[in-house]
Amino acid sequence: MALQVHQFICLDDNFGVLIHDPATGATASIDAPDAAPVLAALANKGWTLTDILVTHHHPDHIQGIAEVKVKFPGARVTGAKADAHRIKGLDAQVVEGDEITVGSARARVIETPGHTTGHIAYHFPDDALLFAGDTLFALGCGRAFEAPSPILYGSLQKLAALPEETRVYCGHEYTLGNAKFALTVDPGNVELARRAADISALRAAGQYTLPTTIGLELATNPFLRATDPGVQAAVGMTGRPAAEVFTELRERKNRG
Ligand code: ZN
Ligand code: FE
Repeated sequence: MALQVHQFICLDDNFGVLIHDPATGATASIDAPDAAPVLAALANKGWTLTDILVTHHHPDHIQGIAEVKVKFPGARVTGAKADAHRIKGLDAQVVEGDEITVGSARARVIETPGHTTGHIAYHFPDDALLFAGDTLFALGCGRAFEAPSPILYGSLQKLAALPEETRVYCGHEYTLGNAKFALTVDPGNVELARRAADISALRAAGQYTLPTTIGLELATNPFLRATDPGVQAAVGMTGRPAAEVFTELRERKNRG
């Protein structure tokens, strides 16, 4: 039976995400940005929390864990071994390639350093689902806070190699701002122009722009298109190595 996914906003622009395995009743929260909306979503669905899957140590992803655990003390908290020293209360420490389960659903841990050194993503291959945290966003990517941009580029390439139909959930609703930037560095991309218009309409109607898919990001996300001649020309870097082009894109976005 397929996993059910419930997405909602926490704080200002963080996404809360619950995944539920109907076969076993197991339910995981991807991160815990804020306890109240996570608990409200669980109550609303009538789901019992069994797991919290942590993507990285930033407060807007972990600050709700302790309070959620007061209500669901049996919930198992999984996170990166590399960041166990700064994510309090990890019950399971994982590394690249580890398999974890949520009920009968299986996920593979993908290490995606860059935004933070210990950032991880969770890929559920049977359900074609990816929880990317703050590594990959719709039309964007996280800032390279704790590793050089080429390291983050390598992490994004790992996610970009997943099957195109993979549905991608991300840590934030940043898509409108990302679209504005993307149009400046990929001005000839017709599919991007169309998507940017769709996104403006969705946001104007108060709707979320996530999930996205790997295929859609490959076609429209400039941070996955550092080898594209149009993107390279737009930033004056025709023929340059992809990691260098990516670094320039990341720096331009930081300044923007
Ligand atoms: Zn973050
Ligand atoms: Fe975040």
